[in-house]
Amino acid sequence: MLKQLIGDSKAFDRAIAGEELSYNDGLELMNYDNLHMLGAVADIARKKLVGDTVTFAASYYMNYTNVCAASCQMCAFYRKDGANDAYTLTPEQIEQRVAIAQDMGATEVHIVGGFHPKLPLEYYEAMMRIIKKNHPNLKIKALTAAEIFYLSKLTKNSIKEILSRLKDAGLDSMPGGGAELFHPDIRGRIVRGKCSGQEWLDTIEQAHNLGIKSNVTMLYGHIEKPEHIVDHLIKIRELQKKTGGFITMIPLKFSLDNTELEQEHLVNNECSSVYDLRIIALSRLMLANILNNISVYWVAYGKKLAQVALSNGGSDLVGTAFSEEIYRAAGKPTTSSIEELATMVKEINRKPAQRDTYFNIIRNF
Ligand code: SF4
Repeated sequence: MLKQLIGDSKAFDRAIAGEELSYNDGLELMNYDNLHMLGAVADIARKKLVGDTVTFAASYYMNYTNVCAASCQMCAFYRKDGANDAYTLTPEQIEQRVAIAQDMGATEVHIVGGFHPKLPLEYYEAMMRIIKKNHPNLKIKALTAAEIFYLSKLTKNSIKEILSRLKDAGLDSMPGGGAELFHPDIRGRIVRGKCSGQEWLDTIEQAHNLGIKSNVTMLYGHIEKPEHIVDHLIKIRELQKKTGGFITMIPLKFSLDNTELEQEHLVNNECSSVYDLRIIALSRLMLANILNNISVYWVAYGKKLAQVALSNGGSDLVGTAFSEEIYRAAGKPTTSSIEELATMVKEINRKPAQRDTYFNIIRNF
């Protein structure tokens, strides 16, 4: 009976044994037909690595500008400089918002934005200095590797120089955005004016080498094929072996509304929940020996599906995401309290815990 359920998959056998999975194994599992079994094995891997605790942070998400020199086909957020609804916050405005977030209990700020063609490096330094001066205990998780790469080109400073100066100004860690999918065949069709996959990886490697840890993401559910997903996960795994600098991997479901991919009818529907669960399970299994945390971004999934994803290999809910303009631009609800996230976790008989940016536990529920 069990053999009938499992079928004859060598890759599945290797996943059960906890072995490192090859590219071909990954492809086989992307096409493996028994999703329940795949999710169950991913869940066992999760339990072995991190137990039953489900973590989340109290995060404040802020976008300092929506002005962007790029015009990615997968993005609903960017505006051109001078557009009616374009905005750029001053460092002082950013600090005022951060002060409110800290009063709400945030332990970290997650700050990202468009590629603003006129903001100098001093703007970013001022932003970090004013936050650190007034909120020394708050962790600053800011600027994706893609933004750092753009800033390097714009200001003609090396990536190392930019990262070093931002670290001196107060940068603690970096978000994982801008990774999208590394494979050039897909990347060139979903982003326009953003660094290549290899440039993203080179930039984040330099950050890790300077002691700046980061998250990493994978944007899926648009025009990719299984091989692009597996390629992306293997590239993450290889860099993690080198630097150990990734804190968590966050699969990001493509949000369709208001994007060029939707308007050009290149993608007509968001991917299915079944596909979401396969991606979470595969992420867990491909990274099982090298990265403990697989995050379920509940903002994109909704709370009910997020609960299921936590039973398919996920171990973290990212955070409260007070204010999150990017997903809101594509029509998704975005806020939740720490208590609501804890309740979600209790409902699936797991152990909720608030964490900090580096996954140290702050509070159990
Ligand atoms: S995804 Fe980022 S880089 Fe691309 S258009 Fe949107 S804000 Fe700009």
